[in-house]
Amino acid sequence: MNKLNTKELVNKYGFKFTKSLGQNFLTDQSVLDDIVNSAKLTKDDVVIEIGPGVGTLTKELLEKAKKVYSIELDSSLVPILQEELKEYDNFTLINKDALKVDFNELIKDEKVKFVANLPYYVTTPIIAKILTEGYNFDSLTIMIQKEVAERIGAEPGTKEYGSLSILVQYYCDVEIVRYVSSNAFIPQPKVDSIVIKLLKLDKPRTEMKDYTLFMKIVRQSFNMRRKTLRNGIKSMKILSGEMIDKAFENAGIDGGRRGETLSIEEFAQLSDAILDLL
Ligand code: SAM
Repeated sequence: MNKLNTKELVNKYGFKFTKSLGQNFLTDQSVLDDIVNSAKLTKDDVVIEIGPGVGTLTKELLEKAKKVYSIELDSSLVPILQEELKEYDNFTLINKDALKVDFNELIKDEKVKFVANLPYYVTTPIIAKILTEGYNFDSLTIMIQKEVAERIGAEPGTKEYGSLSILVQYYCDVEIVRYVSSNAFIPQPKVDSIVIKLLKLDKPRTEMKDYTLFMKIVRQSFNMRRKTLRNGIKSMKILSGEMIDKAFENAGIDGGRRGETLSIEEFAQLSDAILDLL
């Protein structure tokens, strides 16, 4: 394993890790190379990085991209990043919680690429925010906990398949870039990681009449994994049993199936059929 100078930077500035902020800094050069290469950056690209840490990934992004906005919550990293990256005039540091940033203020009329080694504790809310708030982005190349990456990329009928798979696959194609062992970080986390690339589709994977109802039905179906789809929908109490049967018939879906076997397109058909009878 070819080591980055992460440990030296941590020692040089006497940086103290805050566990609750998901601070596990990358030390393996090959992982960093794979993240940057799979993001396919050019000098036309604007990048948003979430959680730069001591700036090891940021530096590579600054070399490859036109402009990099890095959003870091921990104020004690600000002087380190300012000093270490002072030679780059294409760098902007934003000392804020990424969940509270309106990315449109940064993006304006450009299309951006998100690249990040995300803090574990906030991975899903950050992904959900980027996907659902309608930002003009090209892709997200992110390192996240292995299990979460497996859920994101899961196919119908598997135990990993769930509402997160549907949320992400509705908007994006999913590419698993590589597996990363927990010993590629300091401090070493308890879990392994995966680098994943989410490429935004030109338009969402399927059409439906009401996205909110669709997601409600998806969540309900996965919350009650042991029930048949029909019984899961019944406990939502939005339609009578008879009307539920009619909705399944109209959608051409067997209500005796388990929710986890339905594709995104089938969930859309079912939610449209239910909406028509409400
Ligand atoms: N990019 C660095 C690397 O690869 O070594 C650090 C990655 S570390 C897994 C996650 C970083 O996200 C930390 O620097 C942490 O302080 C920062 N962070 C945690 N929560 C955040 C939030 N809500 N908004 C922005 N940054 C956050």
